[in-house]
Amino acid sequence: MENFNFKAETNILFGKGQVDKLPNVLSSFGKNVLLVYGGGSIKRSGLYDKINQLLGDDFNLFELPGVEPNPRIETVRKGAALCKEHNIDVCLAVGGGSTIDCTKAIAAARFYQGDPWDFTQDSRLVKEALPIVTILTIAATGSEMNGGSVLTNVETKEKLSFGSRKVVPKVSILDPTLTFSVPTYQTLAGSSDILSHLFENYFNKTPNTMVQDGIAEGLMRTVYHYTPLALKNPEDYDARANLMWASSLALNGLTGSGKSGIWSCHGMEHELSAYYDITHGIGLAIITPRWMQHILSEETAERFAMFGRRVFDLEKDDDMMKTAQKAIELTYETFKEWGVPMTLGEVGIDNKLLEEMAEQTIKHKDLATEAYVSLDKEDVLAIFEASLE
Ligand code: NAP
Ligand code: FE
Repeated sequence: MENFNFKAETNILFGKGQVDKLPNVLSSFGKNVLLVYGGGSIKRSGLYDKINQLLGDDFNLFELPGVEPNPRIETVRKGAALCKEHNIDVCLAVGGGSTIDCTKAIAAARFYQGDPWDFTQDSRLVKEALPIVTILTIAATGSEMNGGSVLTNVETKEKLSFGSRKVVPKVSILDPTLTFSVPTYQTLAGSSDILSHLFENYFNKTPNTMVQDGIAEGLMRTVYHYTPLALKNPEDYDARANLMWASSLALNGLTGSGKSGIWSCHGMEHELSAYYDITHGIGLAIITPRWMQHILSEETAERFAMFGRRVFDLEKDDDMMKTAQKAIELTYETFKEWGVPMTLGEVGIDNKLLEEMAEQTIKHKDLATEAYVSLDKEDVLAIFEASLE
């Protein structure tokens, strides 16, 4: 295990009715609030009205609506301008990872003289940020409890991230009932994203990380157990609650601290999203089993077999390669059974730009030296091609 610094900075208020504490939570940061939200799901669910009613005349509420899935840098610029104009004290992000990520960049851009896209080139440019409070409405990214933010620049066809402790949310309200209205497709995408965060840390070069691996396996089992239940009955409180808490714990440092390296599937998926604006979690589900298959070898078989035994309850087999192969097949088949479209064709991607996207993947991420298994442009292209159908 490697050296690390772990601090869970976010105060989590979990459970039914926790939104009622919002006025108390916000009042410790100030009166001028920027409410950031997405395309309107919070209006349809009644959450928007509830927030307005709770905050009443005690706060000066300003709004930035319309954050896109795969949030765009232009929206960040708009939000930063609002913060400066209205002397905002605290940012309130209500929605999913896109809204929260956008809010993080806004909170940091408030104090930055240059263009916020710069953060994606160098996270150290984030020197200061407004406090962030979130109300999470979809279990997926873990953004509610970490310092990561992924932004899209449509002009340059880039989807890049930055990370800073300064933008870790101060408080996140996690009420599972707010995720009852998440549609099937987004529930699938959310669970796939949670699993991918766990896989990316689990399939890693750093040896002797039994604590992190055990936590990850428990969270993977949780996602595999509860996703079908949430799909069958979207208002199954326990299913939504377990998925919600799993999303936060999968990417708050618990399973990644003490390990080093660069994530492969996220690197590849961000290019698909940058070029075709597809749903992040769906892209990951398509890529992941193909990546696993591509890197399966004598060296990696042991870990894939361990994953198969501990997560899918596969029997121990003297032939480790056989168990590993079965585990990879189950990863694919489970996504498929849930109803995830498992080919690039189904999400509107053909072979035309695969080579360009493979090149960009390698340009943006040093997968050759820092990935679990070294990947070059040809490897990435082969994984993309295997994902076509
Ligand atoms: P999202 O993009 O925030 O939301 C996806 C869709 O779900 C939106 O159309 C949204 O509608 C809808 N939705 C959300 N909550 C809903 C609800 N309760 N009822 C009905 N519809 C609802 O989804 P996400 O998967 O959480 O975030 C994805 C983004 O996060 C990607 O850009 C990805 O790259 C990034 N990401 C970040 C991290 C991180 O650590 N920061 C990690 C992984 C991925 P509205 O817009 O109308 O609300
Ligand atoms: Fe992700």
